[in-house]
Amino acid sequence: MSSHRTALVWFRRDLRLADNPALLFAHANASRILPIFIYSPEEEGSWPPGAASRWWLHHSLLSLSSSLEQRGSRLVLQRGDTLATLRALIKTSGATLVTWNRLYEPASIARDKRIKAALAEDGFEVASHNAALLIEPWTLHNAQGQPYRVFTPFWRLAETRLSAIPAPAPAPKRLDNPDTAGQGTGMRTVCLNELELLPRIAWDTGLAANWTPGEAGALRQLQQFSNAASDYELLRNRPDRPGTSRLSPYLHFGELGPRQILAQLQIGGATAAAENSLATFRRELGWREFAHHLLFHFPQTAEQPMDPRFNELRWRDDTGLLRAWQLGQTGYPIVDAGMRELWHTGWMHNRVRMIVASLLTKNLQTHWLKGARWFWDTLVDADLANNSLGWQWTAGCGADAAPYYRIFNPVLQAEKFDPQRTYIRRWVPQLAALPDKWIVQPWAAPAEVLAAAKVELGKTYPLPIVDLKHSRAAALAAYTATRE
Ligand code: FAD
Repeated sequence: MSSHRTALVWFRRDLRLADNPALLFAHANASRILPIFIYSPEEEGSWPPGAASRWWLHHSLLSLSSSLEQRGSRLVLQRGDTLATLRALIKTSGATLVTWNRLYEPASIARDKRIKAALAEDGFEVASHNAALLIEPWTLHNAQGQPYRVFTPFWRLAETRLSAIPAPAPAPKRLDNPDTAGQGTGMRTVCLNELELLPRIAWDTGLAANWTPGEAGALRQLQQFSNAASDYELLRNRPDRPGTSRLSPYLHFGELGPRQILAQLQIGGATAAAENSLATFRRELGWREFAHHLLFHFPQTAEQPMDPRFNELRWRDDTGLLRAWQLGQTGYPIVDAGMRELWHTGWMHNRVRMIVASLLTKNLQTHWLKGARWFWDTLVDADLANNSLGWQWTAGCGADAAPYYRIFNPVLQAEKFDPQRTYIRRWVPQLAALPDKWIVQPWAAPAEVLAAAKVELGKTYPLPIVDLKHSRAAALAAYTATRE
């Protein structure tokens, strides 16, 4: 540790103390550390954090603040232009080193490059690190030297690199910042409530009941998942069971890094089922890596289809249909269950994300960006790379996407993946008394069955907003036309 040197650690979406390379770098190179977070949504291009993300961020900052205090430090919160704020903090704290962990969204990359150049020009040492990914996007390319567009070869190569990834580092035990060293920064810290991240109308009770944002919550969730990870292969497609890790928001906010997940899961039983589950789970983390690879190399894909033929597609612009989808009032129970789970908890099971996205983009012929924007506002794990990949994959217009003619049938999907209909009954209680056969397609149920279950279609539960067969044919015709 070099003495009398102050480092500024600029926290962004790496809201943890363990395995945080920027923090460790500062710890190794300075005797005093000033941890800061600057809220500047204007600098995130057209994707500033949505309402659910802001809720998460509020609680995550609270958690980070208290972890820092436990180590003798204090988080400095600021609001406003990042470069100007950094410069002011450097001046008042006397810092000579500024360090952070990298982000991969186009607007953040542009901003960070600008800041790095400006601070280096000012004469300060600036160092950025990788906290968020197993393998950074520019380190992998195919035999032609080009970025990957197909997942399987991407992951085949990426997997060979996993063994070289260093073991995660523990959190520093003590962190002295200029304030605790008796050298105030002279700058007023903004208080968390001033950032106004929480909703004015309290719609967030479902989020609070389902999640504990912050590093401690992340580690608990990882521990819980690692106890059950051997069933991942068996249960991961079942929205009715807690079969997946639910680590996505923790990963997005960097309260946990993928290196920590891999290290934790390597310990454990070595049955064939466990091995298989582990390989499948790693592959899902691989999809996250692939999504970041794509967004880095093809930054336009946050708003433009990867496959340019889809620019020709004429989407429908029916706000009534979009609203019905958003509110979980489509008349398709598995879709409505998913949309209501999303609204209530800020999360939706991956299988159901594909089903609802397919209905919106194919049967309702609504632009995938409208779905992506709704997810962006309502998901606690809203992530530009993963969300863009997920929507383009389902709409069929992305890299390595589902073929355009693949249209999920919500009835068959519900029968297959919600075998006891527990998921639908949980989220669409208006239909709970219908027998298994009819609850997936209430419009087809005999009148006496509906009456016995006290279901009045059009009153207690909507009739389908679109006919599956006709809309499927119309979507196929429209998609086929883009290929001619
Ligand atoms: P697990 O199955 O436990 O997987 C572990 C981790 O791997 C996840 O936390 C996630 O980080 C990553 N992962 C898993 N599946 C995928 C995938 N298909 N693509 C990229 N990464 C994946 N994921 C987000 O994190 N943010 C989003 O905004 C997002 N939007 C999506 C939109 C659509 C239309 C679709 C189809 C998928 C989207 N996904 C998104 C991917 C996936 O649905 C979620 O990552 C997953 O459901 C999170 O739950 P989990 O943590 O329990 O997943």
